[in-house]
Amino acid sequence: MTADNSLLADILSEMMTKDHLTVIETLSKPKHDEDIAAELNLKATVVRTLLNDLHMKNLVEYERSKNKKTGWYTYLWKKREDRIDEFVKGHLSTKLADLNKQLDLEKDGVTFNCSCRRVNMESAMETNFVCPECSQMYVESDSKKIVKRLEIEIKKVEKLRK
Ligand SMILES: [Zn+2]
Repeated sequence: MTADNSLLADILSEMMTKDHLTVIETLSKPKHDEDIAAELNLKATVVRTLLNDLHMKNLVEYERSKNKKTGWYTYLWKKREDRIDEFVKGHLSTKLADLNKQLDLEKDGVTFNCSCRRVNMESAMETNFVCPECSQMYVESDSKKIVKRLEIEIKKVEKLRK
């Protein structure tokens, strides 16, 4: 996986908030949560919540140690490069599957769309050419252009996945 940082940022930002992403980016080396909070000018409780979210997704891990003076535990956080890679790959695979599904639909022939979805002729006929979601009339759309765009996008994703 040779995903550069901007690509990684793009992909991760599709799945999490900017704050989560900022926390990951801050972890270029292992850090304590209070240091991350100070660095990002966020409340420690906020940073801990963000870290916990990331931990649930297995994107970060921590080492716990006891402060001998205070008796409190401190947590040293690091990002899990291996899991982040896997996460990105998983995301790309899902995306690729979606794109291929769309492509099949478009190649199927005539497609219709409203403002919320695209359907094939069969589904459009089933609801009398009216979208059950937004109640708009379906309009026939130009599949050829879309097929071309999808094929380009699929190639791009396939390349990224390598
Ligand atoms: Zn609709």
